[in-house]
Amino acid sequence: MHSTGGRRCCWSLILFSFSCLLAAPSLAAQAIRLHVDLTDAPRNIYHAHLQFPVHSGEMSLVFPKWIPGNHRPSGPLGGLTGIRMEAAGHTLSWQRDAVEMYEFHVNVPAGVDTLDVSLDAITTLDSAGGGGPAASSNLLDLNWNAVVLYPKGAKSDDVSLVPSVKLPAGWKFGTALPVATMAGDNVEFSPVSLTTLIDSPLIAGAHYRKVELTKPGVAPFHVMDLIADAEPDLSMTAQDEAAYQKLVAETGDLFGARHYRQYHFLLTLSDQVGEHGLEHHESNDSAAAERMLVDPELHMLYASLVPHEFAHSWNGKYRRPSGLATANYQEPMIGDLLWVYEGLTEYLGDLLAERSGLWTEEQYREALAGTAAALDHRSGRTWRPLEDTARSVQTLRMMGSQWQNWRRGLDYYPEGELIWLEVDSLLRQQTHGQRSLNDFCRRFHGGESGPSKVVPYNFDDVVHTLNEVAPYDWAHLLRERVATTSSHAPLGGIEQGGWKLVYTDKPNVFTQALEKLAKFADFSYSLGFRVNEDGKLDDVIVGSPAYQSGLGSGMKLVAVNGRKWSPPVLRAALKAAQGSTQPIELLAENAQFFKTYSVAYHDGEKNPHLERVPDQPDVLGDILKPLTH
Ligand SMILES: [Zn+2]
Repeated sequence: MHSTGGRRCCWSLILFSFSCLLAAPSLAAQAIRLHVDLTDAPRNIYHAHLQFPVHSGEMSLVFPKWIPGNHRPSGPLGGLTGIRMEAAGHTLSWQRDAVEMYEFHVNVPAGVDTLDVSLDAITTLDSAGGGGPAASSNLLDLNWNAVVLYPKGAKSDDVSLVPSVKLPAGWKFGTALPVATMAGDNVEFSPVSLTTLIDSPLIAGAHYRKVELTKPGVAPFHVMDLIADAEPDLSMTAQDEAAYQKLVAETGDLFGARHYRQYHFLLTLSDQVGEHGLEHHESNDSAAAERMLVDPELHMLYASLVPHEFAHSWNGKYRRPSGLATANYQEPMIGDLLWVYEGLTEYLGDLLAERSGLWTEEQYREALAGTAAALDHRSGRTWRPLEDTARSVQTLRMMGSQWQNWRRGLDYYPEGELIWLEVDSLLRQQTHGQRSLNDFCRRFHGGESGPSKVVPYNFDDVVHTLNEVAPYDWAHLLRERVATTSSHAPLGGIEQGGWKLVYTDKPNVFTQALEKLAKFADFSYSLGFRVNEDGKLDDVIVGSPAYQSGLGSGMKLVAVNGRKWSPPVLRAALKAAQGSTQPIELLAENAQFFKTYSVAYHDGEKNPHLERVPDQPDVLGDILKPLTH
């Protein structure tokens, strides 16, 4: 564990000064038994039973608060219910700490060596730290942090557990945890540390398919565990199977080493549970639309999810910013370097989707154009540096979309992608195409293959490795990108790549597919807003024509030029306003009051695309070339 600041050191001192009896080596070495009865998963209740080896006296147990991959205090405390503590057949009274809600105190009577704790996790609102339920009638996602308590002050590496589950009758499961025994629907796993347990979610369901992605006998083993709401959702095409195999091969060439014993792609296909992607060392827990494998538009929209989460095994799990490499789940995380952790993963995930064939080159460019345009219209970049969006992850993660352009969102993901594209194109430019970000990845994320471990880093380590690949003033460039405000997005990578961001009336393929799926219409780059199916303006861009007219996020569009609003009516009005001097009249409802807003806009529809710059080398085309053949 690295301490990077005064506040952090203070927290560590406070946590460890209260270390309880259970953290003493003699007991920490003894395993806690954790059994989870998942038979009520269709009702979104998981029943857990824990047995702690204890000594008599005051002790404190904690519920994991700061969840890896969530980067924030997202432990689902609201769902923790039905807590009962017993010893030697007697119920013990417990107390929640008056200040730290994730902490529970109990007095263990004399002569007792085992504490029994029962608890339920209600999972209607938390699927791996995202929104939406974790389970449905036919499937479940078990993140162990929702069903475990551990001794306060203990390091998660030092806490040993023997986990087991009872599954709903006949359900199949996938997890990176090593299985010890199986009997019917009961599965017991080998003893693991708390770190490994929380790093190894389990998915299960009535409809399961296993797809092996490495040839028999090739180590390490890669497998895809697919769970879906219905059997037909599992029909992966031969083309997709080949693409996922290529994804594995591409990461081998990109990073040059693997930091896991085996790897499980846990993929849930369902519209009934919360969508998410959560990275782990030896697996990723991803949940996407039910028909992702069989519907071409959904396939395109979700194609980069699995490559992103897989790339995290190297960038995020193996190499981790020191502020996120904490000793246990109560120690606060510092997100300053999330533009590396998530931003570089976003860049690599999208590249890997294209290099493995899950996206075409054109689809990659359309996605990139959408990202670049959105960030170039983030008015909040004039007051909030990118690094502040990373530091603020705990407040920004669950905010809605109203006024998002002015507030900024989790911009370290997409803007990190633009920054790393710029770094990649600069590395190629500086070395006349001899070196690239691929070389950085080999040096930074490679090393020796073997079991999972964490190698923390700081800003200077990133700069140092970049300088090893090609000397440049990387420190200055990166500080400028992340720590200063600006009026425009960093588009240098696109421009040095031989392309430019343009706006035309032709729809962007991603926006078009998203509009259909999420039922909204996007006029961000023309009028300056996105409008939901019900007319609600979800984000009005500060400084845009709509903003100038007085419209605001949250207002409801009612009519366009005197006619009931709909996306086609609004599009027709945009077309009619071209070559006219008449403003577009928008009638909007604002908390029961109606008003007409005159929008002076005459430039027609605008959708982002990348356009090739003639006479410049196609560096972006080189970047997109697969490393394997
Ligand atoms: Zn990520």
